Amino acid sequence: MQAIGLDYARRAVATREVAEPEITHPEQVRFRVREVGVCGTDRELARFAFGFPPEGKDFLTLGHEAVGEIVELGAAVRDLRPGDLVAPTIRRACPGPCGCCRAGRRDLCSSGEYRERGIFGLHGYAAEFAVDSVRDLVPVPAALSAYAILVEPLSSVEKLVESVLRAHQADAQMALVLGAGPIGILAALRLQLQGIKVTVQSLEEESDARVALVRRAGARYEREGRDEVDIAIEATGSPEAAFTGLKRLAPNGVLGLLGARDGVGAMPWLEMIRRNLTVIGSLNASLLHFKRGVKTLGMLERRTLDGLVTRVAGVRGLAETLAGEGMRGAVKVVHTLAE
Ligand SMILES: [Zn+2]
Ligand SMILES: [Zn+2]
Repeated sequence: MQAIGLDYARRAVATREVAEPEITHPEQVRFRVREVGVCGTDRELARFAFGFPPEGKDFLTLGHEAVGEIVELGAAVRDLRPGDLVAPTIRRACPGPCGCCRAGRRDLCSSGEYRERGIFGLHGYAAEFAVDSVRDLVPVPAALSAYAILVEPLSSVEKLVESVLRAHQADAQMALVLGAGPIGILAALRLQLQGIKVTVQSLEEESDARVALVRRAGARYEREGRDEVDIAIEATGSPEAAFTGLKRLAPNGVLGLLGARDGVGAMPWLEMIRRNLTVIGSLNASLLHFKRGVKTLGMLERRTLDGLVTRVAGVRGLAETLAGEGMRGAVKVVHTLAE
């Protein structure tokens, strides 16, 4: 079968003919990959900023956000049937494994030697077929098939929102989400389900489709603001946004970080102490957060979700998507491999 990924010898995105994966353990299933989502992580991988291929190989199949349709079951698989839709988790346990990985919280891996499909040392899903253990997959109801590709980004949001709400020790009512990418918008939608009033702050012009989408979903949009908020979520990658989030916190406020890179600025330690402020970083998610993501998807408005996903037929154009060409106005680009 054909796979699309990174050629580490040529340092380029490339197509390779690879062997079809086979079931080697009774708890595994084989699935046909229906869709692969593209995010900032893929773009950084394609610039060879981080990530590495499987040991001894010079090629890494891309695609960590995926939806599959089961075609074959291992002998011990009971709860899934051929034709069922699944969303795979990304991270696999470290070799130890460490206590967190052993306890099923690979997202909290303490050794740092975990592997991630399509990112660190394991092939991703941008190929016709894939095999995974049922323990690494979440089933998605057929009614949500059009949005199943959002389960993975939502899982990260679920984990951070859980942490942020737990850390906020008073009554959180107002939230600021920095960034109007897929993660920012999903975070806004998720916080709204919690009964929290959300403002999204980003760089998009008023005429941008993302702004209309945010407003239609019932959130405020601003390019600049001053109001204090109980919760700030940074989903931009920029250190400035993280400092903005911290500055905007009301007493007892919590700042959640999803993408900020390092930057230089003054940390207001004393202010943080006086006002009981908390800063939380979060990456990856557990199986439980993936399951919650499926539940959340079922509660969100279809019209909003439709606006989040732009589909491109086939994976041939993946290199162009990764280079960020020709998809203006798209919030999340999803490549379809099979109907
Ligand atoms: Zn991603
Ligand atoms: Zn571990």
